[in-house]
Amino acid sequence: MLNLPKIEYCRPENDEELAACMGEHQGNFSLLAGGTALVNDLKRGLSDAGVLISLGALPGLKGIEYDRDRDCLLIGSMTTLAEMSASAVLRDLLPGLVRAVSLTAAPPIRNRATLGGNLCLDTRCYYYNQSLAWRKLRQPCFKCGGEACLAVPGARKCQSVFSADLPPLLLALEAKLEIHTEGTGEMSLAELYTGDGAAPHNLPENACITKIIIDEVSQKWGEYRKFRLRKSIDFPLAGVALGGRKTSNRSFKQPRVVLGALASGPLTVAEAAAALSGKSYNDRNALQQAVAAVVAAAKPVANIGSRPGYRKKVAGVLLQKIWLDLQN
Ligand SMILES: Cc1cc2nc3c(=O)[nH]c(=O)nc-3n(C[C@H](O)[C@H](O)[C@H](O)COP(=O)(O)OP(=O)(O)OC[C@H]3O[C@@H](n4cnc5c(N)ncnc54)[C@H](O)[C@@H]3O)c2cc1C
Repeated sequence: MLNLPKIEYCRPENDEELAACMGEHQGNFSLLAGGTALVNDLKRGLSDAGVLISLGALPGLKGIEYDRDRDCLLIGSMTTLAEMSASAVLRDLLPGLVRAVSLTAAPPIRNRATLGGNLCLDTRCYYYNQSLAWRKLRQPCFKCGGEACLAVPGARKCQSVFSADLPPLLLALEAKLEIHTEGTGEMSLAELYTGDGAAPHNLPENACITKIIIDEVSQKWGEYRKFRLRKSIDFPLAGVALGGRKTSNRSFKQPRVVLGALASGPLTVAEAAAALSGKSYNDRNALQQAVAAVVAAAKPVANIGSRPGYRKKVAGVLLQKIWLDLQN
């Protein structure tokens, strides 16, 4: 059994207390949302935070709201995935996002897991997501402060895999983040990801995500498909999202294709989007070009389940499935 290390715990109740806690423990804290990922990481010695700052008592971080005047969807970062599944607003505006949520983890986990935590999920690797005792028997890898990648000998940087299910679709929908730093600010979701497995997130120091924002939401459509070994519960081995604006003549304006679990960050495949832009859902030629672009862009390595070559091919199939479902 893995035990939690001794750790200090704070539970701020307003923004001022949150800022004070983060300032006091700068560089030595982790924000605690649902804890479904972080608590495991603490038990395995994958997080060395000395202090947990719970977001659970802060007002205004929960809930899903549609601002009709601005045509904008706002989801509080502490909204659980179960709450997203049950939301009538979300089902109405973005049923594809509700379906993506239903593919994430499993029902008991979704009861606690939050959207903010999902966006900030750490990258994963067979050689990293292990107990401290297991890792101590091997040389430290890049992600543990060492100078080697154990999964891909000779690699010059960490190859751990971007494994969160919801960012690809939210990126395809051009989501933005409201963040609490010294005041309140905004950044695009795309800016959050570095693509570097050792340090995958770019959130400013002492910042907390407060809301996820999708503008022009009534014009948008998006869908996500994933491949995993166990359909009831598993991280993705490949994930593909397609988002954009549907037009009246059964085609897409400004499509975006984003891959998950096929590199250390989400991959936006501009060539696939260009191939599908303005093309009818019946256009098999456009689909074949987009599929080829996705397969070429995917960069899996042998550090999670299933063979890399197979995951590459599956990525193309996932895009094909989304596109062919549009014909129904
Ligand atoms: C068995 C199992 C299966 C899983 N399967 C999947 C899966 O299929 N797909 C998937 O995507 N995930 C999966 N997960 C991972 C995890 O459950 C989800 O990603 C979940 O959404 C994380 O949310 P949380 O609220 O529990 O985050 P936490 O564990 O509380 O936090 C995760 C990280 O996010 C940071 N964080 C949390 N909230 C904020 C915020 N508002 N601002 C800034 N930083 C923040 C934390 O500091 C921490 O670094 C699985 C986990 C388990 C245990």
